[in-house]
Amino acid sequence: MKNPNVVLKICKEYNAKTIFSALEEAFNLLGGLSKFIKPKAKVLIKPDLYYGTEPNLANTTHPAIIEAVAELLNSQGANCIIADSPNGDFNQYVLDKVYTKTQMLNASNSGYATLNTNYDICVFENPLGVSAKRFYLIDAINDADVIINIGKFRCDNNLGLIGCGQNLFGLVAGKIKNLIKARCYTSKKFFNYNIDIFDTLENKIVLNILDGIVSHETNKDQRILNTILVGENPYSIDCTALKIINENPEKNIFIQEAVTRQKMEYNYQILGDNIEQLIKVDYNYSNPTSYIFNKSLNSLQRQYNSTQKRVIIPYKNCKGCKTCLTACPTHAISIKSSPYGEYAVIDYDKCINCFECVKKCPYKIIETKTPLKYKIIAKNIDKKIK
Ligand code: SF4
Ligand code: SF4
Repeated sequence: MKNPNVVLKICKEYNAKTIFSALEEAFNLLGGLSKFIKPKAKVLIKPDLYYGTEPNLANTTHPAIIEAVAELLNSQGANCIIADSPNGDFNQYVLDKVYTKTQMLNASNSGYATLNTNYDICVFENPLGVSAKRFYLIDAINDADVIINIGKFRCDNNLGLIGCGQNLFGLVAGKIKNLIKARCYTSKKFFNYNIDIFDTLENKIVLNILDGIVSHETNKDQRILNTILVGENPYSIDCTALKIINENPEKNIFIQEAVTRQKMEYNYQILGDNIEQLIKVDYNYSNPTSYIFNKSLNSLQRQYNSTQKRVIIPYKNCKGCKTCLTACPTHAISIKSSPYGEYAVIDYDKCINCFECVKKCPYKIIETKTPLKYKIIAKNIDKKIK
């Protein structure tokens, strides 16, 4: 289990210099940044860019926090990259817009971090996963030695506090997130899926930070909390965040699951500033519901089936050139032989609808369709995500 102690720092403005000092003090209380970051380490900074909105809406991690973290990491000799997969497709077009709107572009202009431009998807396996054993995450993770997870203090009607624990869901590449939501429609399954991601990357995730200077209540109002939380353990950070808004963490399903899986314990220390002066007794917050996406599996399944296009290789037109084999990030394509020559076939259990093969086929023969037999394919995917 990661050290559950949390450092709380009061910080009253989104000013990179003020945040720099607060974070420096916080890291010192945890034993110094050098304990976590080696010189020349490649660090993936993971903000919460899910909604891709302007920082003043308090839906995304503020760029001033990212800039301050990157400057501190640079002072350790580290190389930083800012990477996330927001809601929607995971490609250059979407990311360019998100980087501009969320002002991550400004944060990177300070020269302390670059923006991720690797739009590849990578498969991570975790045989110990509870909700899933295979994960389709952004490939930038592979380029990094360590990850610093920087969540936003925002609250959702169905999911409760997003915080640091659920921020890791943004590592799932692009619209695959929708598929996961359709499969993990109960809070228990969805939260365990998030914990599975943490479990898979636990050795890489060295620090977690929560941007709670300005937060976002369940009713979408903004609320000033003047808080930054820092620690090794994302779940005890979320636990502390719940205490600040006067919620009992022991009643939160996500925290309960993290404790059951021995990822955190309720008995930990809050270091740094005093929590008592920050507690808000009138914060608008709803705990996660049992069915977080509020729809039956059938309706989600129908919705997914009716909208999802799949790639089809018409074998008669295939030249067997194997270009799609190397383009496929999940190795879902193999080559078969017939008396008329070789042709490519897709294993739909492995296909993640990234459409890379469509783009790369030199003969432009790969089609995208919503096949009638998709229900059978979806069932096969279900076997992978229990
Ligand atoms: S078969 Fe095509 S669409 Fe499916 S994962 Fe491979 S490259 Fe992507
Ligand atoms: S790239 Fe196109 S032509 Fe070549 S093997 Fe794949 S589907 Fe067939």
